[in-house]
Amino acid sequence: VPVILSSDIHGIDPSLISRNAVRVTDTLQQAGYRAFIVGGAVRDLLLGIAPKDFDVATDATPEQVQRLFRRARLIGRRFQIVHVQFGQEIIEVSTFRALVDAPKETPSGGAPKEAPAEDAAPKRLRRDELDRRTHAVDASGRVLRDNVWGEQHEDATRRDFTINAMYYDPATQTVLDYHNGMGDVRARLLRMIGDPATRYREDPVRMLRVVRFAAKLGFEIEEATRAPIEPLADLIHNVPAARLFDEMLKLLLSGHALACLKQLRKHGLHHGLLPLLDVVLEQPHGESFITLALNSTDARVKAGKGVSPGFLFATLLWHDVQQRAQQYEANGEFPVPAIHHAMDDVLEMQTEKLAIHKRFSADMREIWGLQARLEKRSGRSPLKLIEHQRFRAGYDFLLLRCESGELDPAIGAWWTSFLEGTPAERETLLSQGG
Ligand code: ATP
Ligand code: MG
Repeated sequence: VPVILSSDIHGIDPSLISRNAVRVTDTLQQAGYRAFIVGGAVRDLLLGIAPKDFDVATDATPEQVQRLFRRARLIGRRFQIVHVQFGQEIIEVSTFRALVDAPKETPSGGAPKEAPAEDAAPKRLRRDELDRRTHAVDASGRVLRDNVWGEQHEDATRRDFTINAMYYDPATQTVLDYHNGMGDVRARLLRMIGDPATRYREDPVRMLRVVRFAAKLGFEIEEATRAPIEPLADLIHNVPAARLFDEMLKLLLSGHALACLKQLRKHGLHHGLLPLLDVVLEQPHGESFITLALNSTDARVKAGKGVSPGFLFATLLWHDVQQRAQQYEANGEFPVPAIHHAMDDVLEMQTEKLAIHKRFSADMREIWGLQARLEKRSGRSPLKLIEHQRFRAGYDFLLLRCESGELDPAIGAWWTSFLEGTPAERETLLSQGG
């Protein structure tokens, strides 16, 4: 039974709520379904933060939801939801899901054990048979599919943290709280619903989520929720690379990237996410370089400016590229091919572990590739370089290197004067060139 909080207790400011989200809950409710704003949006509203996106939970099935809206698409397999689109805004609508019993521990390793395919369809499925068809786990307990519909209280229980498991009904302006989320919001605590170790096994991404929320909200991680993270950290390797990449990106673009990385390190979660991040953070130059990059990224996010993921990943892996290039040079390779071999190596390794999107890795390659040319400034090449599509990113990267003490600041200053200079001033600079 949920605790029902009225508006004088929860104090949510209705003006922070997306009108489209309310349109969705209204439409569903008018069609006879139950519907609420749920999850991170309610959490943010309780904290007085304007949510960046809105999720709706309902007892209508995805197909029933889809029929009620003109622009609605069924999304996902592992986790089926409906995207209802209003112009630029997408409201995510999910059907109440049941908590499915966690699997018993099986010896680690082995191939994922999907639910066995039934040969003849029985006339009526018992609940556990139904579950096997719509719910699947692998040998480490990771949930592969999760499409068993359930009651609202079950939906609350399968969510991750108590502060993420509250439901807001815009029509009555009440909050339904099943797990004392309100108490934890007030205490500024992240508390896992259920047995934390089991919940991390079901979905190791929850370890990254708790760290991200702690950094972003400035909340503490409750002791029982924190304790299993370090021993279970290796389970992160079982998560498909594409999902890991999405999560990494959320973390890095949260506006609290530096705080998140410090938390990750604290919990032993940085290994295998960005291999060598640990090594990089221990280098005197590397550390200030990455710190500078993350600080400027955080500042841009907080100011509502765009951030290029390619640029960010280029900074995180720069030290690695440099080290490898030096090795190639030590083995007799010329500088330019050395850096190209190094880029290939680093990107190949990272794409495997992190599924860095092709679009981003192309950016990274260009930013890294520009560095030597920017340093050299030979002949009239600077005039061509400033026309390069990725010049701005390459130049910003160069300035970070100067600022961190890796590179002679005079080089960065030369480029700044060159960019700002009149044609005559540029000629003078070219003649003094690299
Ligand atoms: P934000 O959008 O600010 O990053 P959020 O809490 O809204 O945070 P979403 O990924 O949008 O995160 O998920 C919406 C809700 O779905 C969460 O609040 C939570 O209730 C539930 N949820 C999301 N991911 C998980 C997960 N891995 N395990 C359990 N519940 C989850
Ligand atoms: Mg959200």
